[in-house]
Amino acid sequence: MSAFFETRIEFLKGVGPSRAALLNKELNIVTFGDLIQHYPFRYEDRTRFYRIADIREDLPYIQLKGTIRHIEVTGPARRKRLMAWLTDDSGEVELIWFQGIQWIARKLVKGAEYVVFGKPSLFNRRFSLAHPELTPAGQAGQETGHLQPIYSTTEKLKMRYIDSRYISRLQRELLNGARGQIRETLPVALLRQYGLCAKEHALRGIHFPADARDLQQAQYRLKFEELFYVQLRLLKLKITRIEKFKGKVFDNTALLTSFYQDHLPFDLTGAQKRVVREIFADLKSGRQMNRLVQGDVGSGKTMVAFLAMLLVLGGDAQVAMMAPTEILAQQHYTGLEEYCRPLALRIALLRGSTKKAERKLILSGLLDGNLQILVGTHALIEESVQFANLGLAVVDEQHRFGVAQRARLWRKNQAVYPHILVMTATPIPRTLALTLYGDLDVSVIDEMPAGRKAIQTVHKYDSDRLWLFGFIRSQVQARRQVYVVYPLIEESEKLDLKHLTDGYEAICRAFPEIHVGILHGRMKAEAKELEMKRFLRNETRIMVSTTVIEVGVNVTNATVMVIENAERFGLAQLHQLRGRVGRGAEQSYCILVTGHELTRESRQRIRTMCATGNGFEIAEADLKLRGPGDLMGTQQSGVLDLLIADLGQDGKILELARGAAGELLERDPELDLSEHAMIRQQVRSAGANQFNWSRIS
Ligand code: ADP
Ligand code: MG
Repeated sequence: MSAFFETRIEFLKGVGPSRAALLNKELNIVTFGDLIQHYPFRYEDRTRFYRIADIREDLPYIQLKGTIRHIEVTGPARRKRLMAWLTDDSGEVELIWFQGIQWIARKLVKGAEYVVFGKPSLFNRRFSLAHPELTPAGQAGQETGHLQPIYSTTEKLKMRYIDSRYISRLQRELLNGARGQIRETLPVALLRQYGLCAKEHALRGIHFPADARDLQQAQYRLKFEELFYVQLRLLKLKITRIEKFKGKVFDNTALLTSFYQDHLPFDLTGAQKRVVREIFADLKSGRQMNRLVQGDVGSGKTMVAFLAMLLVLGGDAQVAMMAPTEILAQQHYTGLEEYCRPLALRIALLRGSTKKAERKLILSGLLDGNLQILVGTHALIEESVQFANLGLAVVDEQHRFGVAQRARLWRKNQAVYPHILVMTATPIPRTLALTLYGDLDVSVIDEMPAGRKAIQTVHKYDSDRLWLFGFIRSQVQARRQVYVVYPLIEESEKLDLKHLTDGYEAICRAFPEIHVGILHGRMKAEAKELEMKRFLRNETRIMVSTTVIEVGVNVTNATVMVIENAERFGLAQLHQLRGRVGRGAEQSYCILVTGHELTRESRQRIRTMCATGNGFEIAEADLKLRGPGDLMGTQQSGVLDLLIADLGQDGKILELARGAAGELLERDPELDLSEHAMIRQQVRSAGANQFNWSRIS
């Protein structure tokens, strides 16, 4: 470990104690090591000049060179602005200032040549640059001709003149002093195999790239390193788990065969068969299974889980199935109970609301082993729930359960940890799954049961309401049920609730002869349950609600999902909502209703929804549009605290890095080889995504 990088930032020239305190507080920069890892978040391209005729709205910051043709101050006193027209041989563009007008006006000379730098925007069909940077062409040498790093700062820092340029100067100072101090943190063999540049070269290149190629090399190297250590640590955890945790062997297939031959209600899809095979291999392996099954809504995860249960029950152990809500637990219980009947399996449902006498019966049945399957909510992981011999725990809709809860399930069998099967309908792109669940094995059900009709998704505007009501009427007359969903976010809760109740009333007026239900998070739990049950029983035909309608609830008669203000939902959420319909044999529809004004991103989301029903394609698009931090269920994961890699963009590098980590561990599982001493140290040090420069706080 290099002591140099543990030096406190106040000892860097140009910093001092008070600025150091600010940097510490605002950006968490305490040491030289922290500073050098404060990478630019983007670069301004000062290497090229755009022609004015080539300006497009979607361009980021651009650099122009031209002559000021005309200068004008316009507008009433309080809304004054300064306008200047810049021309080159291809065209003309407006420059606008709303503040500091006098100061700028003094600098501007009509007929002089300038280098201008700013972000173009389109207004009244004309391009303009607001508050551009302006340098007389003669003096422009310093700034032009390179990629200028832009660092994140905060308002507080800027008030103390700690802006991007200042940080850039600090980086220059630091890198000058760091000559000979930057140690390599990846083995030479890896550098060679994957064409990575040296650490020192990468750190210089990331802060002061000579050109685009240099920057790309630096980024590749640093991203690779970051992802390599994340993966190495996860894979190592997995190896440890596999070695340490024995699992009970389940290989008695008698019960399974009996069900499969005589009672299976449908043919399994190819994907279901494959995943069942993967699970069976785990259950027979003698090691504890920790497997995640990903499958879109309706892909048939329940049957896969039930077949796994049968193999375990065949070995005289018990199984538990945990769902995130009472309604879901109830649905699972009802479904499984039907499968259990012909096999005379003993199954019970345990909920928070289960009455005392019944609860007692269930608990004693679990303890003496008489009860074979327990379905339940969180109630199931309470201490009082003890099993005689829990062999398998199935967790449905994983994103609502944390890792800690999974661990509590493990402890339900002290002799041998039960096998764990986690099922999720939140499709997670492979790159993200590799990082988030690197310690789980992942199976994917990527095929829908045959005969399922694809949900037709259309985009309509608020002004199409007449059409919309007509459509709802036709479906209701065909005895189908309809969801109408409104967004509800905390910041604008009052207004959103008003939209919801207005919408509810409009529908009640339009359909006076029909029962319309309403459901939102402000209602009491019992009232919500009641409303949901009435919809399940087809007593209410239209359900107006916020997104509280449960994930995974199965109302096969519901064929229409109307999503109001669809532009305010994320892709993952839209897809989850759409999954509430299309569960029966009838054609289902999803109608996305928006206003006419849409941002580019919302339009892209709506377009994606209309174009595909495939959850994985949608998840990939979502990852690209929003980045991984916002994806459902990923927020709590510390793994995503990445300094430079971006899971949305860097899937390829992640795969390479994971491959490299896997190969390395295969050769040297304990990292004992002397050539891996440095890696060993990196893995042991605080975070795998941090370098070795631990923070002094
Ligand atoms: P999810 O993956 O969303 O949990 P479910 O397990 O609830 O999906 O299955 C959705 C519906 O599809 C259920 O009614 C189930 O009986 C049915 N189903 C599951 N697998 C098949 C299959 N291979 N063929 C036909 N129907 C199936
Ligand atoms: Mg399900």
